[in-house]
Amino acid sequence: MAGLPKPLADLVGELSKLPGLGPKSALRAALTLLKWPEERTRGLGRSIHDLRDSLHICSGCAGLAESDPCPICADPRRSQESLCVVSEWDSLLALEETGLYKGRYLILGGLISPLDGVEPGSLEIERLQARLSEGQVGEVILALGTTLEAEATASYIKNLLERQYPGVRLTRLAQGIPLGAEVKYVDKETLRQSMVHRQELG
Ligand code: ZN
Repeated sequence: MAGLPKPLADLVGELSKLPGLGPKSALRAALTLLKWPEERTRGLGRSIHDLRDSLHICSGCAGLAESDPCPICADPRRSQESLCVVSEWDSLLALEETGLYKGRYLILGGLISPLDGVEPGSLEIERLQARLSEGQVGEVILALGTTLEAEATASYIKNLLERQYPGVRLTRLAQGIPLGAEVKYVDKETLRQSMVHRQELG
């Protein structure tokens, strides 16, 4: 943005890369920050700085947590027997909201989408294989939604299981989920129902 002092222009430039913030609202946010008491802006700066240091990728599920393993993976009351595979962390949060599922998770970090250049190699497939190779998982529940990318990912995992882990049962959330939907946007009751009535992936 022309005419701004450089430190301000730099901040506006960075802020405007955030989702939902264009250059105008980024400038408004930056000017608001300038009005804050110094201690508060320093606190915000520290929070942003510490974010990377204090968050870990859980070695069990690939989720974000303050500890590794994360509280879900470390919880002995949760079954090792079922593994729910989701695309992103917010799907896990949506499923946890239902309070119904008592197994473990694995976060793929996306869905297979050749058009967008997302191949299986860029997802957490190796972590999935590692979890299955431990031999405790008896059922993999796919909670990937009903988009084309979800279908592509489901059939990839189905092939993987058939080839390498034929003893593992593969199910997916029941089709109460509207076509084209992402798990994180499905309402709690539908999600709960679709978990109860999950289907074999035949
Ligand atoms: Zn975890």
